[in-house]
Amino acid sequence: PVRTRFAPSPTGMLHMGSLRTALYNYLLARNTGGKFILRLEDTDQNRLAQGAEENIYDSLRWCKLQYDEGPMLGGPFGPYRQSERAEIYRSHISTLLESGHAYRCFCPKERLELLRESARKLQPPTTASYDRHCAHLSLDKIKQNLDNGMGYTVRLRAPEKYPIIHDLLYGALDIQPQVNANDVRYDDPILVKSDNLPTYHFANVIDDHLMKITHVIRGEEWLPSTQKHLAIYNAFGWSPPQFIHIPLLTTIEDKKLSKRKGDSSVMNLKGKGILPEALVNFSVLFGWSPPRDLAAANHECLSLEQFEQIFNLNYLTKGNAKIDEKKLWFFNKHYLQLQIESQLSKVTEQVIVLAQSQYGRDLATAEKVTTILQKCGKALSTIHEFNSTFSYFFERPNYDIINSVQDYLATRDLQQELRILEEFQNGIDTTDTEQLIKHIKEKLNIPKRLIFECLRFALAGSKSGAKVPILVDILGTGETHKRLDEACR
Ligand code: GLU
Repeated sequence: PVRTRFAPSPTGMLHMGSLRTALYNYLLARNTGGKFILRLEDTDQNRLAQGAEENIYDSLRWCKLQYDEGPMLGGPFGPYRQSERAEIYRSHISTLLESGHAYRCFCPKERLELLRESARKLQPPTTASYDRHCAHLSLDKIKQNLDNGMGYTVRLRAPEKYPIIHDLLYGALDIQPQVNANDVRYDDPILVKSDNLPTYHFANVIDDHLMKITHVIRGEEWLPSTQKHLAIYNAFGWSPPQFIHIPLLTTIEDKKLSKRKGDSSVMNLKGKGILPEALVNFSVLFGWSPPRDLAAANHECLSLEQFEQIFNLNYLTKGNAKIDEKKLWFFNKHYLQLQIESQLSKVTEQVIVLAQSQYGRDLATAEKVTTILQKCGKALSTIHEFNSTFSYFFERPNYDIINSVQDYLATRDLQQELRILEEFQNGIDTTDTEQLIKHIKEKLNIPKRLIFECLRFALAGSKSGAKVPILVDILGTGETHKRLDEACR
């Protein structure tokens, strides 16, 4: 059975790129009837950020990515927080020390720094810098060092040649450290740090193995680690999982999403009014394409449930995915509209709460907000736009600021425009708006478009926006009269 995992380090806010990684792992597990595991990689104590763990839970919950095993939830292969697995790593490092695949390195920092420096200066330079000094210590010397309480790290004795990576997306990759034949150095990765905690490489491999992970889908930035991981699997005689490295998400500069650091974190996007359905839809489609006919039939709007049905590894795409923010708003508009249709009172409530937090007061009664959402909600990409988009429903247009309707109309046939407003004033109390406009058109022999433009300008101070009958309906005839009076003044 397929077992996938999402293994974030709680070092900051969960951002869109990580969400996509989580999604692919989740979808593969769901599509195959497998299990999806959450594991917290928190062994790098210096990089832990306050609130980051909570932020991971919140973000996944908000996007409805339910995992089958994880911290708090538990499961058969727990604990799922690496900081609670110290004993497991200790016993496994002993195995490698005994088999000779790993050795203790007592070299002080200064010596290692000198080695790195000299490695950089070699011609050609080498990325492997260690001279394996400690790999040759006698058992007596090691014992003596330990008895003296000397600090040490544990290093993997790297193989002569690192294994070839067989990545499902990238194919076979042969990544070797650069060497200099005249001064042979070794790239012996550290498995256990001097604080006795495992490195990412070591803990990651032990856990993937013990948690019976079958597929590792992760960002391509981890590719240079993978050959090291394979070497560790080999040292234990374990077979590795299937690796799938996915292209990075690149943000388009100076777009809203990338302006500030942390801006594309899931919770930040939530705060901007992005809906989880939109974010999920948007994220999955960066780096994965659904069957064409299905995508076309739905304008690419697909739900998490639909993705669970159709996701597979064959349609992953290579090449860096550029974030196209417009598309995110397109999806958001779509899902907001669905919400307005199915959960109108909830959306109304949200608009009211938002207005209170933004303006410290109610914009309008719930009834009015509901009506506006029903009749004009299609114009919104997010409820955060509600007030700015529909301000003309709550505030009378400032005719002075908009150069007065007369000024606007002065460029046209003023007399004609005033006649429109007058006719409208006269009929509005007794006649249905549509009928009235038809009547004016016939009586004055003016194209409908002009009538609409003129009325909308008088009533809302703008040339675009809600249709005139809707405007009148929502404003009510009393307010409609007041605005027409002011516009004609
Ligand atoms: N802890 C790593 C991260 O923060 C996990 C990488 C992996 O999936 O192996 O992304």
